[in-house]
Amino acid sequence: MTRFSAKAHIKPNYKYSNFHKSLLHEDNSEDYALRHIYSLENTKALLQKWAWTSEQIKTGIDYATIDVYRNFVYLHIPNKIEKRGQLIKIRGISRFISKSDYVDVLVTRCWQKADPYKLQPGDNWDDLIARGNTGDFYEIKLYRYEVTCTCHAYSGIEKAFAQDPVASKHLMLNSTAQGQVPDKHIFAVWKYLGCENLRQYEYCWLERKEAAITEEWQFDPDPEPELADW
Ligand SMILES: [Zn+2]
Repeated sequence: MTRFSAKAHIKPNYKYSNFHKSLLHEDNSEDYALRHIYSLENTKALLQKWAWTSEQIKTGIDYATIDVYRNFVYLHIPNKIEKRGQLIKIRGISRFISKSDYVDVLVTRCWQKADPYKLQPGDNWDDLIARGNTGDFYEIKLYRYEVTCTCHAYSGIEKAFAQDPVASKHLMLNSTAQGQVPDKHIFAVWKYLGCENLRQYEYCWLERKEAAITEEWQFDPDPEPELADW
């Protein structure tokens, strides 16, 4: 059976922290935090931020160990690997990383993928539809303090943060997300409304609501008071 979690999370000869073990589930499709926050893709983006070349990342990522502690993450890539019976020197790393780095990179990647042109109006002022690449579509609901989406990524990322209270704290502190579950469709809505963070979104939400109420009132002004039926 292939495990859903990346090799980096389940290296057989490595002793992971207890918190990391608590993130591993019998049904590995439930390893939400490992898959969505501490993923290989996010780790690659971090290495790139730290000026690794794409060649160095490509060589090293297969040998990475990602160990998630309660308050931080330990990342290890050896600086020597064995290839065809020979030891080769590669770029390695062995350091603790703040969970805020992983959260920031997740938010940034979601933001970059967000495309407001894939949205279309829903039935009401507070819902929108996002078209997926394969013709499927997702319902997006605009609440005053958050936006939700019916896509698979949204529910996975929401569960990922529920599994990891420290990552969740950093999501609240992230200057863009400010606690909003990061999903590309939701950030597409923010871009569509012209907002860059949750505070701005809340303001846009109120404006949108007021505009909708005004419009409704214009089409359907208060009827004449009914005459008392004597
Ligand atoms: Zn979504």
